[in-house]
Amino acid sequence: MRVPAARIVFSEGDRAQITAAATEILASGQLTLGAYTREFEDAFARAHGAPFAVAVNSGTAALEIILRSVAVAGADVVLPTNTFAATAFAVLRAGGRPVFADVSPDTLALSAATVEAALTKDTRAVVIVHIGGLIPEDIGEVEALCAERGLILVEDAAHAHGSTRAGRHAGSFGAAAAFSFYPTKVITSGEGGMILTADERIRDEALLYRDQGKAGFLGNVHIREGYAWRMSELHAITGLVHLRRLPEFLSNRARIAARYDAAIDDHAGVRRIQVPLGDVSNYYKYVVIPRPGVDRSSLRKELKERHGVGLAGEVYEAPLHQQPVFEEHAGGTLPVAEDICARHICLPVHSDMTDQEADHVLAALSAALRTLTLTG
Ligand SMILES: *Cc1c(COP(=O)(O)O)cnc(C)c1O
Repeated sequence: MRVPAARIVFSEGDRAQITAAATEILASGQLTLGAYTREFEDAFARAHGAPFAVAVNSGTAALEIILRSVAVAGADVVLPTNTFAATAFAVLRAGGRPVFADVSPDTLALSAATVEAALTKDTRAVVIVHIGGLIPEDIGEVEALCAERGLILVEDAAHAHGSTRAGRHAGSFGAAAAFSFYPTKVITSGEGGMILTADERIRDEALLYRDQGKAGFLGNVHIREGYAWRMSELHAITGLVHLRRLPEFLSNRARIAARYDAAIDDHAGVRRIQVPLGDVSNYYKYVVIPRPGVDRSSLRKELKERHGVGLAGEVYEAPLHQQPVFEEHAGGTLPVAEDICARHICLPVHSDMTDQEADHVLAALSAALRTLTLTG
């Protein structure tokens, strides 16, 4: 049996629906910012209990628009060092200075303590990233710290479609949240992004920014330095059809994760990231941390070559403060993130994964760890 690192699931019925709508869109001539974009926005907002949604053409665009809307230019913005480079690029493009912070070893996300350690007199905003789809259990403390210090909390929810913490959805914790529909994410539109917010002003700013800062779709008065951040109708229908699968994807992914949990908990020398009882992770990633000394590239190779199991990409392989492009923003060492980035692996989770595939992954992991321990 082979289990690939990822599988993008569009059923035959979903493909047929998208194809039929695509034909209709092309015939209509309404190719961008039309009825399907509005329908996708409404459905995505409803799925997350959010008052407003604005669709854009990437998760990176969603982040940059939010950061421009809350005016981070010239200010410091705290973000975790273990995130996708796009989080920090969006800060830079919005004119802010990224300040990389360490994370909690329990959630791989910012905590009040790690944010506090990174604050400067120029900090204006904090971008929290729900790593692997887990909304950190202690996010309330981060919200409280931001409120107390007058900082704007922004969610990079690129991993977290459908996730909840204490009954609250991803997208409801910050002033605004950015989601991504890149193909590897739990819901995809091919390329795309979405802003969720309860703040009418941010919604209005986002509408301006995504379409070249124009005061109206049909007018030619530019009142913001916007960009070509619109979502096309073909992407919108793809995302809309995929979004209808979210409940089914969440329950399949949770079933696989529960199978992994039971086996990992029985395994000496391996720990996993725990999802608190009652909370929902979409398991964008299933994070496992082998004991120190297990060489990740050997483990990866062993799983692939001997067992046909592809590990999913890490979150993240190298922290941003150690990436060449961010050298001038590097700051000091961030020991927890450095350690976890170097050691962890992500077991494959697909939205249509079978129990047999999950069992094969677990058997392969046990065998590979045993082999590496004997030879290492
Ligand atoms: C995917 C991702 C983004 C960027 O989304 P795109 O749609 O690829 O632009 C931003 N932040 C995080 C954490 C991501 O995983």
